[in-house]
Order: sequence, then structure tokens, then C-alpha cells
Amino acid sequence: MEKIAFFDARSYDRTYFDALAPGAGLELLYLENKLTKDTAILAQGSSAVCAFVNDDLGPETLPRLAEYGIRAIALRCAGYNNVDLKTAEKYGIRVFRVPAYSPASVAEHALALLLTLTRQTHRAFTRTRERNFSLEGLVGTNIEGKNVGVIGTGKVGIRFAAIAQGLGAKVCAYDPKPVWGSGIEYVGFDELIRRADILSLHCPLTPSTYHLLSRDAFCSMKDGVIILNTSRGALIDSEALLDNIKSGKVGAAGLDVYEEEADVFYEDVSGRVMRDDTLNLLLSQPNVLVTSHQAFLTEEALRAIAETTVENLQKFFAGEKVENELKAKEVQAASGRS
Ligand code: NAD
Repeated sequence: MEKIAFFDARSYDRTYFDALAPGAGLELLYLENKLTKDTAILAQGSSAVCAFVNDDLGPETLPRLAEYGIRAIALRCAGYNNVDLKTAEKYGIRVFRVPAYSPASVAEHALALLLTLTRQTHRAFTRTRERNFSLEGLVGTNIEGKNVGVIGTGKVGIRFAAIAQGLGAKVCAYDPKPVWGSGIEYVGFDELIRRADILSLHCPLTPSTYHLLSRDAFCSMKDGVIILNTSRGALIDSEALLDNIKSGKVGAAGLDVYEEEADVFYEDVSGRVMRDDTLNLLLSQPNVLVTSHQAFLTEEALRAIAETTVENLQKFFAGEKVENELKAKEVQAASGRS
């Protein structure tokens, strides 16, 4: 049996991984800790690490993992912005991911955020529980006929675009690599953010997309624009978003991700003083809906994540080619970075 240190483990992970791992010759050591340079020592005695979105696989953690005998990292997610691939390569650590598990789960979560915000069902829910049946202040808007702008039309973005089209919205998109023949109108980034009533982010976080929605970008948007982010928090300058919520320029925001999420998301911090004032203020607004990076959290997605992660590790230990391997050079070339 190959031993795998499974960081940031939750009960829902165990349900799906326990069903597959033993049969694949893997012994999983479930650790509730997030992986950091300080917790890396918990991996000692394992051959590989299984990590998630907020685990730190940066230049300080990776050399320690190598020192403790870690030969591979199996990311149980699609995004890999938290991994320093060059350092991993330097220390001979192979990195695998789950490029696609259930694009629908993420796209449908973006829809859930959107409909909650446009129909104010989050506020109606708390009102009726208090026996407050007033409709004052709950006037919503239709999606039908609205301009929906999709940034990034990969697996998730294309699904979200189809959902929006199904609701009767006029969908346009920006992607440096358009999907021709998809029936989606592609426009430039500046045109997209000028045109959109609803703007949904579905591109990866890279150095070139960091703060894609910047203070300047918000200035170009329509008054009352609805922002949806189910991709990565740092695609948005959160302080600029907050200022634009306060000024009324942004009509609503549905955020499944937040740029400083690593310290709080996936944890119950309800008994603690929370020092992040930007997040505190975002959470206090009635037109901001924050979920804790849960767009992936469906039965279908969890099952697919476990299947691919286990398969990646099984192939690695068998000395076979792992299609889902991330290689620094290929990733750089694909993202157009030098
Ligand atoms: P994908 O790789 O299939 O598609 C990403 C698309 O973004 C590609 O078409 C790419 O060309 C495009 N892109 C790259 N740079 C761009 C830019 N500057 N502007 C616009 N488009 C750009 O990825 P996916 O599977 O569709 O996932 C999208 C993102 O969703 C991932 O990067 C990940 O960060 C996020 N995600 C979040 C969750 C969650 O639980 N919240 C789950 C899965 C994925």
C-alpha cells in the first residue's frame, strides 16, 4: 500500500475516497490541517500528498515535502494557482490535478448565486422565518433579456453561457481562445464589461488575470451590474468591489471565492473576531452573497474528483503516463507567459 497524506480533509472527502482508495492500493492518512510549510512535516512517511485549493504548495513548502520523501502531489481540484510548478520540478515532485470533474456543478452554483440575488430569496428566507411576510424591498429583476457577459468559456464558462441562454439572456463572452461554433458572440474584454448587466468570471487565476476586475474595470461597467465569481478570489480587486458596492455602481455580487479566503473558508470561525475588514463589510451588505468556495460541492463532482485523483495516483505508482500531470513549461506556454 502507498501511503498518501491527505491534507485539509473533510467528511465529504472521506465518503468518496474511502470507497476507492483501498482497492487502488492507497492508504489515505486524513489530516484536517491545511498544508503549509509548518504542517508539511505531517507528510513524513507518506509517498505522496493529496491537496486542495487553499493548501500552500509554494517555494517554502515544496522543499520540505521533498525532504520528507514526497514524490507526488495529487491535487483534488482543477485550479493550480497555489502550486509553484517550477519549484516542484526542481525537487523532482510530480504534480497531478483533476482538470474536469463536473463543470455543471460550478456553473449551476453560479446560477444559484445569480437567482438568489436577482430574486432576493436569501432575504425572503430570513423574513418569513421571522413571520415577516412583507414584500417591501424585495423587488427583483428577470434574467431574460439581460446582457450576460461570460469571462472565460472553458468547461465551466460554456456551461454557464448555455444556462444563461436557456433563461433567455443575451450572452456574450471574452476568452483569448474562443470556442468557435458555440453560438456565443465573442467581444473584446473592454466591450464585454461595458455591455454586461451580469458579469460572470470563469477564467483561471494567473499573473495576467490577477485583479482582472480592477478599480479601472469597475469604472467602465454599467451602473447596477451584477458580479459573479465562482473561479478564484484574486480575479477581483476586493477593495475596489467593496467601494463599488457602497457607491451603488455594483448592484449585487455573488462570491464563491475571495482573495483572502485561505484563512477562513472551510473553517467555522463564528466564535472568533474576524480581522479582515473588507470581508466583514462585504458580508454585511444585503446585496452581497458569499459562499465558502463550495461550487464544486455536489455528489457528482465529489465522486468524479475522487475517481480521477485515485486514478492519477494509481498510474503514477504503476509507472504509467499520467495525462493529468502539470508541467511547468507546458503550463507557461498554454497561458502565454514567459
Ligand atoms: P478551463 O481551463 O476549462 O477554462 C478556462 C477558460 O478561461 C479557457 O477557455 C481559457 O482560454 C480562458 N481564459 C484564460 N485566460 C483568460 C482571460 N484572461 N480572460 C478570459 N478568459 C481566459 O477551466 P474550467 O474548468 O472552466 O474552470 C474555470 C475556473 O473555475 C478554474 O480556473 C477554477 O479556478 C474555477 N473553479 C472553481 C471551482 C469552485 O468550486 N468554485 C471549481 C472548479 C473550478
